[in-house]
Amino acid sequence: MPLVALIPQPNSPVEVREVAEPDLEPNSALLEVELSEVCGTDVHLQQGRLAGVPYPLVPGHVSVGRLQKIRGELFDIEGNRFSEGDRISFLDVHRTCNACWYCLVAKAGTRCPQRKVYGITYGLDDGLCGGWATHIYVKPGTRCIRLDAVPETFMAGGCALPTSLHAVERGDIKLGDTVLVLGSGPVGINAIVLSLMRGALRVLCIGAPQSRLDAVLAAGAANTLNIETHDETARLEWVLEQTSGRGADVTIEATGVPQAVVQSMRFTRDAGTVVVVGQYTDYGPVSFNPHLDLNKKHLDVRGCWGSEFSHFYRSAQIVAQRPEVWSRMTLDSYGLNEANEALCAVKEGRVLKALIKPATN
Ligand SMILES: [Zn+2]
Ligand SMILES: [Zn+2]
Repeated sequence: MPLVALIPQPNSPVEVREVAEPDLEPNSALLEVELSEVCGTDVHLQQGRLAGVPYPLVPGHVSVGRLQKIRGELFDIEGNRFSEGDRISFLDVHRTCNACWYCLVAKAGTRCPQRKVYGITYGLDDGLCGGWATHIYVKPGTRCIRLDAVPETFMAGGCALPTSLHAVERGDIKLGDTVLVLGSGPVGINAIVLSLMRGALRVLCIGAPQSRLDAVLAAGAANTLNIETHDETARLEWVLEQTSGRGADVTIEATGVPQAVVQSMRFTRDAGTVVVVGQYTDYGPVSFNPHLDLNKKHLDVRGCWGSEFSHFYRSAQIVAQRPEVWSRMTLDSYGLNEANEALCAVKEGRVLKALIKPATN
């Protein structure tokens, strides 16, 4: 019988349970999970901070495994058929409808109201839909990719990589730009790597703790500042020192702290660009000066919500063909029975990247 680690309700500890193996619908599959991940979203899920989440919930929205059973046929986007035993990952977003106003007119698939996300808006009642489990039910219509990268290397990027890829493209980074990344968690670190790939000359990062800033430097950042020992004034002074007194060309906010959005605007040069990708849960409002912080600066401020297949697919390609950065990242693995400890480590920022490895149990 499959085992799952689930959050029974908000603010309750994770419990490991046995659940029945699903009946496979036509053109679906059962995936044997090798690795899944623990990210900031999972911490928010445990705290009940996300709207529209059906509990009990098996978290784990990006995972890697082997297809154990296929009923019917599954194909990749190049038309190649998947076989039992293949190692795959899949886009966590399911059922983007390609039929609604947002999909067809706005061409903003990440705002499609029909979309469901494995491990976030699909709960246990929807089937085995989270990666903190020995098995995942790969529903019909799930977008799978064959995994060429080493599983650990792919998961070092995890959900943060497509999110960062989307953010970096929203930032429209140009060759020779100086990019400032606020936040040194997984999204921040991946945004640094991808900003450099996209042509940034220098990437600066303000974050904490020091262990993460060391990882940021290893990922290619030119310079870092520890947020714990520098207040907002000191941070602004540092940014100006690093950018000939102007501010960053592009700032990517990846912190989760509302005040950081205002700081992103203040740390960016006039006529620069700000991308907000760190506000995935509602931590309340924040005030800013519309004249000084936005209008007079002629800023371009953009939100960035979720990712689409294109971000996911290109992320996997990048990790498979340029694995160096991700293969060096420090990973901490936990069994299903250790999920509470993993959540705690992520919440406290003690680990760079926490993975769930169901076979550990
Ligand atoms: Zn995530
Ligand atoms: Zn739609």
